[in-house]
Amino acid sequence: MTITLPAPPPRVARLPRNRVGYPVPWFVGVVDGEPDFRVVGPGKMDGAVTFRCCWICGGSLINRTLGPAATQYAYVVGPMCAVNRTSAEPPAHRACAIYAATACPFLTTPGMRRRDSRLPENAAEPDGVMIRRNPGVALVWVTNTWRMIPGYRLFHLADPAETLWFAEGRPATRDEVLDSIDSGLPLLQAEAEQDDDPDRALVTLALQYERALELVPGGGE
Ligand SMILES: [Zn+2]
Repeated sequence: MTITLPAPPPRVARLPRNRVGYPVPWFVGVVDGEPDFRVVGPGKMDGAVTFRCCWICGGSLINRTLGPAATQYAYVVGPMCAVNRTSAEPPAHRACAIYAATACPFLTTPGMRRRDSRLPENAAEPDGVMIRRNPGVALVWVTNTWRMIPGYRLFHLADPAETLWFAEGRPATRDEVLDSIDSGLPLLQAEAEQDDDPDRALVTLALQYERALELVPGGGE
């Protein structure tokens, strides 16, 4: 099997590679002696939160020269996260996040399905509602603000400095992004209908959806 990958940024180039040749992200756990990209390694979430290290390369996210105000947090998320502004995974460097969004086979190949088989029994489910589908579009959400949702291991996506949308390893088109968001919306609507106050939750969701559309590329045409 031959794989073609975009040129990695230096921090990713230093990572070990798996047998197929993919750089192994820092967060990845080992199952039966092999890195399993679906599994978060022990201590990685705590380490990322405590030390604010990049989820992908493990290096510090804090800009030591210019300080926290100049620090960027780049989340690699699915398009629905632009609606509910939540990520279950900690942020990365901007360059590391873009690399993941363009090189990760799950994120770049819309037809590829998540493999849930043979996950170790103690694989932890992330907090929050996970949308288990391949969105086809990967979003890199860059913000200067670190904010967790109190009581959960969830990250709030603060107002973005930049949003970058990708499909199949290249910038996504407006239609691809809109298709992806619209196909995922019923899942969030079904979730809102289960809320204690479904009417209010549905109105909130409609407002979140409108706000997300402002971030879709090509809106000014
Ligand atoms: Zn990094």
